[in-house]
Amino acid sequence: MIPVGELNRERLKLTIRGAVQGVGFRPFVYHLATQLGLTGWVRNSSAGVVIEVEGPRLELDHFLEGLEFGRPAAAAVLGTETAWLVPTGFEGFEIMPSDQGADKTAAVLPDLGTCSNCLAELFDPTDRRYAYAFTNCTHCGPRFTIIEDIPYDRSRTSMRGFAMCPDCEREYRDPTNRRFHAQPNACGRCGPHLWIEKPGDPSGDGSNITTGTALSEAANVLRQGGIVALKGIGGFQLMVDARQPEAVGRLRKRKHRDAKPFALMMPSLEVVRQFCQVSTEEECVLKSASAPIVLLKPNGTPGVAGNVASGSPYLGVMLPYSPLHHLLMKEFPFPVVATSGNLSDEPIAIKNEEARARLGGIADLMVVHNRPISRPCDDSIVRVVRCQQSVMRRARGYAPLPVFIGADLPPVLAVGGHLKNTIAIAVGQQVILSQHIGDLDTVEARRVFERAIEDLCRIYKFEPQLVAHDLHPDYASTQWASIAGLPEMGIQHHQAHVAACAAENRIQGPYLGVSWDGTGYGLDGVIWGGEFFLADGARFERVAHLRPFRLPGGDSAIRQGWRAAASLLWETGGREAVLRFRNQPVLLQMLDRGVNSPWTTSVGRLFDAVASLAGIADVSLFEGQAAMQLERATDSITTDESYPLAFEGSIGDWQPLIEAVQRDVRRRESPAVIAARFHNALTDWILTVAEQVATSQVALSGGVFQNRYLVDRSVALLEARGFRVYTHRRVPTNDGGIALGQALLAAYRAKGD
Ligand code: ZN
Ligand code: ZN
Ligand code: FE
Repeated sequence: MIPVGELNRERLKLTIRGAVQGVGFRPFVYHLATQLGLTGWVRNSSAGVVIEVEGPRLELDHFLEGLEFGRPAAAAVLGTETAWLVPTGFEGFEIMPSDQGADKTAAVLPDLGTCSNCLAELFDPTDRRYAYAFTNCTHCGPRFTIIEDIPYDRSRTSMRGFAMCPDCEREYRDPTNRRFHAQPNACGRCGPHLWIEKPGDPSGDGSNITTGTALSEAANVLRQGGIVALKGIGGFQLMVDARQPEAVGRLRKRKHRDAKPFALMMPSLEVVRQFCQVSTEEECVLKSASAPIVLLKPNGTPGVAGNVASGSPYLGVMLPYSPLHHLLMKEFPFPVVATSGNLSDEPIAIKNEEARARLGGIADLMVVHNRPISRPCDDSIVRVVRCQQSVMRRARGYAPLPVFIGADLPPVLAVGGHLKNTIAIAVGQQVILSQHIGDLDTVEARRVFERAIEDLCRIYKFEPQLVAHDLHPDYASTQWASIAGLPEMGIQHHQAHVAACAAENRIQGPYLGVSWDGTGYGLDGVIWGGEFFLADGARFERVAHLRPFRLPGGDSAIRQGWRAAASLLWETGGREAVLRFRNQPVLLQMLDRGVNSPWTTSVGRLFDAVASLAGIADVSLFEGQAAMQLERATDSITTDESYPLAFEGSIGDWQPLIEAVQRDVRRRESPAVIAARFHNALTDWILTVAEQVATSQVALSGGVFQNRYLVDRSVALLEARGFRVYTHRRVPTNDGGIALGQALLAAYRAKGD
């Protein structure tokens, strides 16, 4: 006869999918189960975490509740499958070794900033990890940048070469410890160590220099205006004292970086507040485990050198996010420039030898360690828009978290664009977007791009059956796709932008997709960039666009915005208008004959033109600089006045707008007024088109929507008329997001949706 108690016993099997490995999920389950007196086991599987628990029904219900509400904050659960089974009579509860099944859809976690417990230990002189630069636990530390394969176990990370000492081993095995199965667990006795090197000094493997002295040496170099190359979490960073303009200038010169703003690391939130306005949301993002660079409005306090971010309305600021950074900032408690360790636009260096070769000529001192970095992962860039974070460069702290789609997708590989490249794979019901790879202009960058494809496919045991790519034949990504030996599908650039926005916001039904950027290959061979689509899933109808104009000089017009201005003057006022503006006979000939002057509908180029006409910026030293300066000009003004932008049929005509700008310039109207009226003309146009199209949903995408004034005003106008407006949050609105849109549109079209 079965004992009465056994009759109520049941066995529950759970499969939890998502980013649940490496966040202390198993210890959490262990605690929960043992507290409730339940028996069974938990283990990591390639699908996520699998649990079997056995006990009375009431306790099992409590267990389910606990799982839902008590799980670790860093876990991202995408789905849970439950099955009730006959009890088998488990004795006790155990954590079982990971299985290695074929189903590789478990999410890989991003790297997490140092938690408060680890931070306390780091600065506690009595703790055995005092001042140890590689301290971590299940709540924090490196993940994506040390993982070589999944399931996530130490033997499949770049920590596998470090055997744990007895103390670390004890923590690792103890289910009640914060470091239970913390895969990168280490201490000064057994883990990675730090040393400094003088570039070019052959004797300098300084492995006998202890952490403390290495970092005080680095702080000395910074104080003297020197450049330090520091091996961080996702690659090397170059650092220099941000208070010294000559030092910052030296870094610009050695790095061959003219004007593009540098990011800053500041020792604490208090110091950030000294220099910037920080809202509650911005504070949350700064302090989050993702610990990205946050774009903040400077408050005008002097102290940060002007050449750190000249030309940008923002300062990009982050807080220290690894023990190494915390220790350095303690030695040097001032704002430092912290920029990717590379030359100009090359990829970030991750290997010690690579850094010696590539950064040796830039840095005065290198801070190096022996924990290998498995893949490059730059610092992410985020800004807060409409009280929510919006990722502009998605890498450390965010990649490779998936975007959940909610429908089965065929295995598509999307290779992204050419600038700010990312790639994506469609796995099951989710799209996994790679970290920011960068511009594919150099051989090195293209090598990193190819490696990222191999890497993502290998980790997820992914075999693509289709490659989605941009239509632009000259993009390095398109060229890679054409020789990949797989069926290909070209996806229009601006459709990919809005599809990415629709995907991350899970837009259902028809919507108006506003796709504005600098450049993208159109379906008719024209360079698009001022497009409106009526879209629904994979179906797109181009319902409106900017009146095309010529770009004399082609690509050189991207850097020299005055060329776009000349072209618009040629259209509106003829040759005399152009000659009055610039005495450039060659340019005039180009326009007269239409030679080397491709047509474009780009709003980004319209920004350049107006910035030039308004006397705000003639050239852009980095992508989008003129537009950024035009946006900044609106800071000092609030107005609803706007220029006329004629809208007839499906074409938005800039002619009356340009004529009005010229009138204002002749009247010596202030650049702020011109800038605001121009922005307002564009937002009014969006509203006009939205009201003509039979849909209540609007998605804004493309690089132009990095402009906060434009987003804020468009959203306000549209919402006041009852539209639901979607913008990007987890995926960049710039070309860093198009791989997601490519993957989805190719998947839908392959399925025949
Ligand atoms: Zn920790
Ligand atoms: Zn140890
Ligand atoms: Fe684009």
